Amino acid sequence: MSLFLIVPIIIFLTVIIIFIVVLSIIITAFKNAKNTNNAQQISTPPQTTPTMQVKEKLICEYCGGKYNSDDTTCPHCGANCH
Ligand SMILES: [Zn+2]
Repeated sequence: MSLFLIVPIIIFLTVIIIFIVVLSIIITAFKNAKNTNNAQQISTPPQTTPTMQVKEKLICEYCGGKYNSDDTTCPHCGANCH
């Protein structure tokens, strides 16, 4: 009589434990994937943008406005930059 009660309880508990373990593995894997994606997204853009701004943007000698290194004249005062 007692064995008929204990066996279903043990099966039920093992199923719950397996479910919790699988769920925790899925959650940790999902969190790690999210963290790696965020780290890649954060690390890549700041490396490119500051160097681009420093290289491309120059300051006009006459008005102090910023202009691109490709521009022959200042877009703010029209002075010849080169
Ligand atoms: Zn200027």
